Amino acid sequence: MTSIYEALSAKLKGAKCSRCAGRGMVDDAEPGDIGFRTSACGACRGSGFAGAFESWVRKASLKELLDVLHVTPEVSDQIEMKNACALIIEVQAMDSGRRECIRAAFRHGPLLDGDVPSKAARDTLLDEGYMTKVVVGGNDGYNACTHKGAWAYRLLEAGA
Ligand SMILES: [Zn+2]
Repeated sequence: MTSIYEALSAKLKGAKCSRCAGRGMVDDAEPGDIGFRTSACGACRGSGFAGAFESWVRKASLKELLDVLHVTPEVSDQIEMKNACALIIEVQAMDSGRRECIRAAFRHGPLLDGDVPSKAARDTLLDEGYMTKVVVGGNDGYNACTHKGAWAYRLLEAGA
């Protein structure tokens, strides 16, 4: 059995930003320099984490998630704002099974029935419109991300 500590250690392996070695800061020092300037690392935006891990440790703000959906209070109407917030709320409440299914379908889909990470989660995603059954090369048994599913994927990657 894997302890929580072991699971965390495995997750953190390679989590360090390669550009700043996890410091979150970079400097312009060259060998022989007397002084140098430091600034926030551009690759990890100062977090010290490689991209995929940053979203795992840090919850994104509502503004960041609305940005992912290209919705802003200034230019979007009430219906767009309402739909965007409803999607964000639904995605934030997703369990790990549904999250894994969306990631797998987005990155590697269409997926054969046998290749979806969880059949139960896939069925829920079909009902909710994040995934759909498709035919590939005459074979009915494939599952793919819908456009709604693709937006959900982008929200998940942004830290939803
Ligand atoms: Zn960095």
